[in-house]
Amino acid sequence: MSIRQEIINTIARTRFEKVEKPRSLKSIYGINTFNVQSMKEFIKIKTYTAFRQWIDDGKQISSVQADEIAEGMKKWALAKGAVYYTHWFQPMTGLTAEKHDGFISLTAKGVIEKFSGSNLILGEPDASSFPSGGIRTTFEARGYTAWDPSSPAFIIECELGKTLCIPSIFVSYNGEALDKKLPLLRSEEALSGSAVRLLKLFGKKDVKRVKSSCGAEQEYFLIDEKYFRMRQDLLLCGRTLAGAASPKGQQMEDQYFGSIKDRVLNYMSDVTEEAYKLGIPIKTRHNEVAPNQFEFAPIFEESNIAADHNQLLMDVMKKIALRHGLVCLLHEKPFAGINGSGKHINWSIEDNSGNNLLSPGSTPRDNLQFLAIIAAILRAVYRHQGLLRASVASAGNEHRLGANEAPPAIMSVSLGSQLTAILDTVEKKKKVELSKKDIVDLGVGRLPTFNRDMTDRNRTSPFAFTGNKFEFRAPGSAQNISTPVMVLNTIIAESLDYITGSIEERLKKNKKFNDAVLGVIGEFIKESRDICFDGNNYSGEWKKEAAKRGLENEPSTAASFKSFIREDHVSLFKRYKVLSRDELVARHNVWLEMYVKLINIEARTLKEMVDSNIVPSGIKYQGVLAQNLRILMQVSESGLELDKTSLDDQKKHLVDITSMIYFVRRNTQEMTKLLEELKGLSGERKAKAYFEKLKPLMGHIRKHSDELESVLPDDIWNLPKYREMLFII
Ligand code: ADP
Ligand code: MG
Repeated sequence: MSIRQEIINTIARTRFEKVEKPRSLKSIYGINTFNVQSMKEFIKIKTYTAFRQWIDDGKQISSVQADEIAEGMKKWALAKGAVYYTHWFQPMTGLTAEKHDGFISLTAKGVIEKFSGSNLILGEPDASSFPSGGIRTTFEARGYTAWDPSSPAFIIECELGKTLCIPSIFVSYNGEALDKKLPLLRSEEALSGSAVRLLKLFGKKDVKRVKSSCGAEQEYFLIDEKYFRMRQDLLLCGRTLAGAASPKGQQMEDQYFGSIKDRVLNYMSDVTEEAYKLGIPIKTRHNEVAPNQFEFAPIFEESNIAADHNQLLMDVMKKIALRHGLVCLLHEKPFAGINGSGKHINWSIEDNSGNNLLSPGSTPRDNLQFLAIIAAILRAVYRHQGLLRASVASAGNEHRLGANEAPPAIMSVSLGSQLTAILDTVEKKKKVELSKKDIVDLGVGRLPTFNRDMTDRNRTSPFAFTGNKFEFRAPGSAQNISTPVMVLNTIIAESLDYITGSIEERLKKNKKFNDAVLGVIGEFIKESRDICFDGNNYSGEWKKEAAKRGLENEPSTAASFKSFIREDHVSLFKRYKVLSRDELVARHNVWLEMYVKLINIEARTLKEMVDSNIVPSGIKYQGVLAQNLRILMQVSESGLELDKTSLDDQKKHLVDITSMIYFVRRNTQEMTKLLEELKGLSGERKAKAYFEKLKPLMGHIRKHSDELESVLPDDIWNLPKYREMLFII
């Protein structure tokens, strides 16, 4: 028996039972966060009030107050058993980073624990090895981490120790953003400014702030850890670079929402408990479409916190999996031929009284405001479709977007039939014949009712209106959500501003308010109509139709990044103070480099697998066949009459195997040569060559390797197979 077969037997023989942990939600929720309750316990109420004012109204706290909060946070963390603290931040790579410092300090009186306001507010990790995309030159390599007080500090636990984590931004010496969080925070400011301006126009005089909210549905795969360790590709790249399809995949549609296996349920329960302790409000868990694919979704929160929580959740998911002898795969496409994993970002905007601005209102004026905001969003997506596409671009997500599987790389908006009908009537200024109950009182008496329960749910749309929020479905499962949310916030801020300006202009021309607003909405719809699509986004017809409409369709990750440095986008980000030109160029460079590096690692990993596993297995079998054939020939020569056709068939088998090995090897040699040739290239040119030449070549190697895998004897093949990884858990 091969090691692989032994492993399968071990996994299959292990029984996992449900472990009930009788703990109440209330007793654990948020216990590892420095939340309102712990703040009130550890700092003076006056300081807490000042802190709230800082968060809500931007009124700075004094350094004495900062010291007091730091002291309170330290006491809370020490009481919990933490001896280290770290500024927890999200560099441009999208991962999280931490450098731990001990509370320990030595004095004449002995050892003490020290942590001051300035320690809390500012950290200086040795930042020179984080990618800066050219922002930092070596002589000013310093980068600073600065406390983000709007996101609660938390404690991460491992078996033997605890660490206080302080959510932080990461900036250069000159204050340029080197991370994902600061641009998101800046985009929130932009969005708030523009939305408040529009709301004031609609008579909402006391609105002070608007925030975006986000609920990120997180898809993932789970496989047994033993498989993971036996495959270089999973270990180094997080996805399989070869692997013959399993005859049974997802075609029976028996996995989605199916009953969850005990082993998986144990895992999910453990993740939920850890998440709850960290104040991450997980709400749903279920099986997804592909075998061994699952999803967690939290209750939505303000985007900055949702982004931190999603990063933390991904971390927790990976760590807890190992406790269960599992590996959590967050890659967008761990397995070819079955669904990949995405991260649907549910996005909405809310004013400071908690009113969701994407909910149809109850008064005529509120409905008008609602339609104006929807029209502004349509215009934003239409004008900046390339940016949205770029905001979800990565080497991993390239396997989903624009590949054979949904969603496509074409951005479009699905509004559902009702809302579409309403907007149509506004645009065409026509009266529609509708029964009385369908008429909504917009003060103009010609618009049909919008009934939220009847919103269409077009599952194939990359950007769909779902009742009181938009669902952006293109982001990848491994992605940090900050960038797509930052882009959404910024482009919509611009459109909201523009719509306000347009209405104001019409009002100046003595138009009545309702007419002015409806007129502008109509104009926006007319301009942006091409971005609306309610049909099947996965179909070939849509691709053709979208091309006719002139919509962008960029399947290449690297090429799509260019959107970030397009002149009109540069000035958009600059105008809304979200990102400067340098900051945009830096991001473009860093992400391009990440793309190239990742594909390079994949190619070299594939070569290693071919040389150390795939070809040796093939040759072993070839040897067996050759030996067998020689014996058969000897037998035949010694007088035993063997059927010629059968003998020829045996020969053909050997010839086939030999040619499969040959094709795997030949393509691999070509790939090695190509890698060598492309070595000298850099940046965009290298990325382009990787996309156009290297990736297809890797596909060829895979094809031949998969052919070989499917004909080799089971005990000769060492790499865990698809059917095992996906069905034996
Ligand atoms: P689906 O049917 O697409 O799986 P769910 O009802 O499970 O959708 O909700 C998906 C996510 O949308 C959840 O994280 C939920 O909290 C979030 N969500 C709901 N309402 C809003 C909103 N107004 N703004 C942002 N996110 C929201
Ligand atoms: Mg969804």
